[in-house]
Amino acid sequence: MLDECFSAFGTMTKAIEAFLVFKGAKPVARLGISEKELPRVKRFCEKHKLDLEIADFKVTMDFDGEYSTKGYMVDRSSSMKGHLFVYLSKGKGDAERAKVAEQLQAYNVFGKILGYPECCRKFFVKNKPTEQILSNDYIIPSLQNSRGLEFPFYNNIFGRYFDTTLLSHAPCSFNCNASKKIGKRYFTALKGDSPGIARQVEDVLRSIVIIGDEIILLPKYKGRRKITFPHVLTTKKTTLANQLQKAKAINIIDGRTFMVGDIKYSMPVLIFN
Ligand SMILES: [Zn+2]
Repeated sequence: MLDECFSAFGTMTKAIEAFLVFKGAKPVARLGISEKELPRVKRFCEKHKLDLEIADFKVTMDFDGEYSTKGYMVDRSSSMKGHLFVYLSKGKGDAERAKVAEQLQAYNVFGKILGYPECCRKFFVKNKPTEQILSNDYIIPSLQNSRGLEFPFYNNIFGRYFDTTLLSHAPCSFNCNASKKIGKRYFTALKGDSPGIARQVEDVLRSIVIIGDEIILLPKYKGRRKITFPHVLTTKKTTLANQLQKAKAINIIDGRTFMVGDIKYSMPVLIFN
């Protein structure tokens, strides 16, 4: 089934979301697709008897690599090129309710329809005014709310930069227990259908994450503070990414300090396990 979702949606993240809706594990998925992809998505939803709604707006995206969070809304009939947003649900009109809630900018209701936990919906609404001016990825406020150095891999939303994620909302903190439960439920559904894909997802999400101008993931790491790893995933080729690639080792001092060889770095670092 996941293969079929992948053929319809073209990325693993979107395929997983569509799959979760199909399985009844997730109430509604909101997915950005290109206008060109719409007929294929429509055919998929008809075949699998999923409700499909299309937002009346489209978004012209600011792309930085594969993943974009910032965009400008225009009317769907506009000749400007943009991404469409579609809402998928397994009947019961949830897709339509999600569309209406987003149109009304009723974000708390919208998040509830999408199955996001209450703590994270409150967090989203509270931080929206600043986030929509800044990066719109909610990483900084999530970090500010996070405690400790180690976090459940279900809450690793940084995998999305490499087309791998379980959660589609920003957790209120990387410790968020409600998000962890949801991520775990999604992971179990995935594992039941495609154990191989589930393993790949787990491999990416169980990683060390470094947050700078670039996002770096160090999957398949070994160790607790003095850590070794086989390879580096990065959104940009930076000096740090290069050094990590060469050293294949990092020494984590605390949540904001680590060493690569003799060089000390001060930037957020998280251990997802
Ligand atoms: Zn939360």
